[in-house]
Amino acid sequence: MLTNKTALVTGSTSGIGLGVARALARAGANVMLNGLGDPAAIEALRRDLAATTGADVRFHGADVSRAAEVAALVAATEQAFGAVDLLVNNAGLQFVSPVEDFPADRWDAIQHTVLHASFHAIKAALPGMRRRNWGRIINLVSVHGLVASPFKAAYVAAKHGQIGLTKTIALEVAETGITCNAVCPGYVLTPLVEGQIASQAEAHQLPRERVIREVILAAQPSRRFVTVEEVAALVLFLCGEDARSITGAAIPIDGGWTAR
Ligand code: NAD
Repeated sequence: MLTNKTALVTGSTSGIGLGVARALARAGANVMLNGLGDPAAIEALRRDLAATTGADVRFHGADVSRAAEVAALVAATEQAFGAVDLLVNNAGLQFVSPVEDFPADRWDAIQHTVLHASFHAIKAALPGMRRRNWGRIINLVSVHGLVASPFKAAYVAAKHGQIGLTKTIALEVAETGITCNAVCPGYVLTPLVEGQIASQAEAHQLPRERVIREVILAAQPSRRFVTVEEVAALVLFLCGEDARSITGAAIPIDGGWTAR
């Protein structure tokens, strides 16, 4: 389905990004992985993904919180594979604190990694997509792009910003073969959420299973985690031809969270 297409997935050395990269590789795309982490572990992961999917999988270690590195990441992908056809802006991080105590450097890191990186990557990848008159831009946002929770000021602000960016880009490219959408998961059990479970267990002095059900999944009516595979399947659908009329959308995949 995606043979001869190239996917760039930011933050794909872990969690949702890795699952999305795997689904796109299985569907036949070349994949440029990106993310932070131990180089040997990332190389093992890259080899495994290539071996299990048969795709051409490469890695670029850009820190996407830096504008120049985002531009270099897009340029390196175009140089390696000839194009960026599928851009998935997925890299992200979380920090939880009342706003009065929110460290300014954590605020900056989240805006740069989530919102600014999406802008810089789209800006760099769009000219090539326009030349080929085809492209898929998917911003991996969150229910927190649609609704807020307390103590997540930086994350909620950045994620709401990503949805505004998604809509604006969709309008700018509406008459082309390019679409731009936001995918908005509820809680998915990844290292990002494991960190929140551990800190909530500490704060509430509760065992892990009670924290998951009574704290983490309290707002998610299904009371089960969305899976990485479910998110990846939605991204894959948005990359296909049947999704060409879906653009500028913010699609929840959240077990009913935003239905309240
Ligand atoms: P994760 O922590 O498992 O993975 C985050 C990835 O981003 C890693 O590969 C990490 O190396 C990379 N990354 C972080 N900072 C980076 C930087 N400066 N430069 C390059 N790479 C960087 O997290 P996840 O849960 O898989 O989250 C992925 C995305 O999905 C994030 O944008 C997150 O906000 C969003 N999301 C997650 C959930 C959830 O419940 N897990 C829900 C909704 C949305």
